Amino acid sequence: MTFQELNLTTPLRNAIDDLGFEKPTPIQEQSFNVIGSGSDVVGIAQTGTGKTFAYGLPILKNLPYSEQDNPRVLVLVPTRELVVQVVEEFEKIAKYVNVRILGVYGGTNINTQKRAIAEGLDILVATPGRLYDLALSRVLQLKSIQKLVIDEVDVMLDLGFRHQLLNIFDLLPQRRQNIMFSATMTKDVDALITDYFINPKRISIAVSGTPLDNIKQERYNVPNFYTKVNLLNHLLNDIDTYNKVLVFVAYKRMADRLFDQLEESFPGESCVIHSNKTQNYRLRSINQFENGDNRILIATDVMARGLDIDNISHVINFDTPDYPENYMHRIGRTGRAEKEGHALVFSTEKEQEALENIEQLMQMQVPLLELPAMVEISTELIEEERPQLKERYNPLKHRDEDAPGPAFHEKKEKNKKTNQGGSYRREIAKKYKKPKTRGDKNYNRRNKKKRR
Ligand code: AMP
Repeated sequence: MTFQELNLTTPLRNAIDDLGFEKPTPIQEQSFNVIGSGSDVVGIAQTGTGKTFAYGLPILKNLPYSEQDNPRVLVLVPTRELVVQVVEEFEKIAKYVNVRILGVYGGTNINTQKRAIAEGLDILVATPGRLYDLALSRVLQLKSIQKLVIDEVDVMLDLGFRHQLLNIFDLLPQRRQNIMFSATMTKDVDALITDYFINPKRISIAVSGTPLDNIKQERYNVPNFYTKVNLLNHLLNDIDTYNKVLVFVAYKRMADRLFDQLEESFPGESCVIHSNKTQNYRLRSINQFENGDNRILIATDVMARGLDIDNISHVINFDTPDYPENYMHRIGRTGRAEKEGHALVFSTEKEQEALENIEQLMQMQVPLLELPAMVEISTELIEEERPQLKERYNPLKHRDEDAPGPAFHEKKEKNKKTNQGGSYRREIAKKYKKPKTRGDKNYNRRNKKKRR
């Protein structure tokens, strides 16, 4: 397909020509008419696929010139870097279009942003927290929003923004188009779509780039978490074969739990990445894994998107992903650059259905291996594996995931100090080697009087 066939307006065509793009990327091709039609859309696409223009082009094409001050398009993204990036991309294609674009994010002066908003705008790109603050301050009116885009929604939910997103939804007009892009499908993303989207059209670019021929896939049936740990330990004992191992788990708590287990059997050999770890910590982990200081990297799906590390000897799916696309992304981390890769997947009884879905997507069966005899079968169950007590329906009870998430940045040096009590008392105590305060002085004086 060519850009001609997308029926772009002349200003957009000219901007595309200036950029030197030859043809739309697959996600752009698929999104253009669907987003243009005005229905709710969920797109599964990673950074680098051209997803920003996939929503940028149809939005700009259908945004008539207006002199009104309130924004009509809201784009929410998880980080300030992405705000900057998305604004830049929009400015590139809107080069010949008369449209006002503004990016706002936290950690900078809110008053400057308020003044910029007061000047009027059409498209607002924002991080959720700052957007909400601006909306509450009444400088920003959201009543004219016709289109809401949530980009990298998987990262956003993983960072604990669900609560903030719901607050923002409350401020938006009911009648609006919802457009969402996510690199991975997760339970949280699914729940958000089900609860807030109306008959969304789904667009997903086939994960055809995954070189299945290069990857040897095998699987084990394993009854529970601790037996999976035993099996993993058994495999990892073979240091020569398992020399650079990426272990995938479904969620953060599982990542930490598995890390603790591996620390016991292989101290100092593993590192971990998930969204409760700071950016610095994650980068450090990835570096250590990449240059071989750590043999094992434990990762969640959301944080491992786009991991670009060569020579991974094994991808181990410690759990069987619910969404087959995630499995494809996971195993695609091995078997790169013509090298043979190796992927293993561990599945419990409960995970067999997910496994069938994966096999269906790939149109092939993953060979089953026998559990090695020396792997001990554990009967101990972790919390999630124990039978659940069903709670009676209680609509008033807040769901856990609606709670604001923890802060995910490292504390500043000055905020790391703990409160040691009043500084005066501490200084006096240091000077006199024993607690002595003005109160004590009066007490002694009173007692002296009595004694007289
Ligand atoms: P994104 O996935 O939106 O982060 O975009 C990744 C990069 O691809 C950006 O630098 C875009 O400028 C570029 N890009 C977007 N669409 C196209 C296209 N049709 N042809 C070539 N490059 C593109």
